[in-house]
Amino acid sequence: MMRAFLVNPQQKRVGVSERPEPRAPLDDDVLLRVLDVGICGTDREITSFEYGTPPPGAQDFVLGHEALAEVNTVGPDVTLFRSGELVVPTVRRPCSVPRCAPCRAGRQDFCVTNQFSERGIVRADGYLQDFVLEKERYLIAVPRALREVGVLVEPLSVVCKAAEEYALLRERFAFEVPHPRALVLGAGPVGLLAAMTCRANDCETYVFSRESEDGPKAALVADFGGHYVSTERTSIEALPQRIGAVDMIFEAVGVPSVAWGALPALAANGICVLTGVPAMGEPVSGDLRRWMRDIVLQNQVILGTVNAGPSAYKQAVILLERFMGLFPQAVRALIRRAPLDQALKVTQKAQGIKDVISFV
Ligand code: BGC
Repeated sequence: MMRAFLVNPQQKRVGVSERPEPRAPLDDDVLLRVLDVGICGTDREITSFEYGTPPPGAQDFVLGHEALAEVNTVGPDVTLFRSGELVVPTVRRPCSVPRCAPCRAGRQDFCVTNQFSERGIVRADGYLQDFVLEKERYLIAVPRALREVGVLVEPLSVVCKAAEEYALLRERFAFEVPHPRALVLGAGPVGLLAAMTCRANDCETYVFSRESEDGPKAALVADFGGHYVSTERTSIEALPQRIGAVDMIFEAVGVPSVAWGALPALAANGICVLTGVPAMGEPVSGDLRRWMRDIVLQNQVILGTVNAGPSAYKQAVILLERFMGLFPQAVRALIRRAPLDQALKVTQKAQGIKDVISFV
């Protein structure tokens, strides 16, 4: 038997239990020993039973979708991985609907049927368990040098997919935008990783969030060369005046008033990328007339993005290596580790910026 952190939405139960160890790997299976699993807002929604679905026919499922693991043993058809290597398993698995072109092309991050599964989130067991069996094609290789921080690959892959789309959209210009400026909304792990990505691309970067301007988050942002603006000192209405126009907004809060409220800071031809998922609730109001006018008259793009494809995961590995060359202490400062027996506490209340459950 092995340890697993289970969620039972029907009985509203969460916690560590025992489960049988996976069978030995066959064909292109890879047996993974889990090292680290990151906890995010999605996990907190799942453990408070607002989100998350067990696999068909099951009552409960294993939580966790941000994993770093070590290859234990491989099936006979595995060619890319060997025992002892580090990998990050991807999250989303394709639907089985023949007409779903994205899933058939291996781009289930663009699935059109909504019948995909996501490990640890919807219709599939996750990674918060000692061992897990996975198909070779869903694994991304991670160099040993990233052992300490490789658990950030999955959240960074979400940023990298956004960056891929941003780059494609920028191709609509036949001219260079000399010094792009970016505004990141939210200083959670995804916001901070997005801000680091902007800095690694030499972009002047502002992070707008709730924490105070003399607190640790502001110091962290300064450490990797960004500017931090607190809602305590600057209202969203006053933001454009304080920071000037930005060419890109990266939203990572999941609060509509913040996402749309920041739009007046977006320059002409600017791109606003939304990644936060707001909880459902009463309709919220806003100045639709102004938004529509500005978006049209200024050629702006509002882009939503979720999950990531294989190229974004691979880019996340490369980018994380670059971050570790540029500002290693800032990357390390994101992570706070805790053992599995503290997983319940960590899913109930964030203890660090990126809480990570460590199995070793
Ligand atoms: C995960 C994504 C997933 C999304 C929606 C996020 O927390 O990082 O991989 O697609 O939740 O379930």
